[in-house]
Amino acid sequence: MKLIFLGPPGAGKGTLADLAVDVLKVPHISTGDLFRAAVKAGSPLGLKVKDIMATGGLVPDELTIEIVRERLSQPDAKNGWILDGFPRTIPQADSLEKLAPADRAVNFEVADEIVIGRLSTRRVCRGCGKIYNVKTMAPKKDGVCDACGGEVYTRDDDKAEAIKFRLETYRKQTEPLIAWFGAKGKLVTIDGVGDPKVVLERFRKALGV
Ligand code: ADP
Ligand code: ZN
Repeated sequence: MKLIFLGPPGAGKGTLADLAVDVLKVPHISTGDLFRAAVKAGSPLGLKVKDIMATGGLVPDELTIEIVRERLSQPDAKNGWILDGFPRTIPQADSLEKLAPADRAVNFEVADEIVIGRLSTRRVCRGCGKIYNVKTMAPKKDGVCDACGGEVYTRDDDKAEAIKFRLETYRKQTEPLIAWFGAKGKLVTIDGVGDPKVVLERFRKALGV
């Protein structure tokens, strides 16, 4: 199955994708994770996107489409995938439609106030990308990843100034994709508020998986 996860930053796309991977047995592909890995490696791509990401802006479409094209060409993506954080613009959606059309676009609905609360308490592992929340899903040992022992930190774009800008960017550039996928008959809407396990059950029901 080829799935796109839509929704504002902090909607829980990454958390849900990690859970859904066990159900669907397809890879979780997050463009945010791919870019963060490039930044960490200090690659030419990483140097280009570092400052854009820190402020919460969008990486240019050409670079983003290229990184997705490359990732989808790998063997593990043959039988399906969950794309988390892509497409985020209409041109990205157009190019994916030509490259490998998704079966469904799953939109996680979460109100702004909740999203802002979640992002300001979100933490991420620098080593493996595992997502935590100091309020609701804290690592067992403060600042240390349960899964890999890596450093659990606050992303630059989860700081207050960047959060507001990311939500504005989402409204302008990404939200129109909901209607876009609706018009294609691919849209599935899910209430994203609640415990991730509860949201996963809603997801399974809605998709019949
Ligand atoms: P979020 O928590 O906002 O969903 P992500 O981890 O998906 O964050 O993305 C982090 C950052 O990476 C974005 O703010 C943006 O700078 C960049 N990025 C990720 N995916 C895309 C994309 N499809 N198009 C442009 N930029 C992207
Ligand atoms: Zn880790």
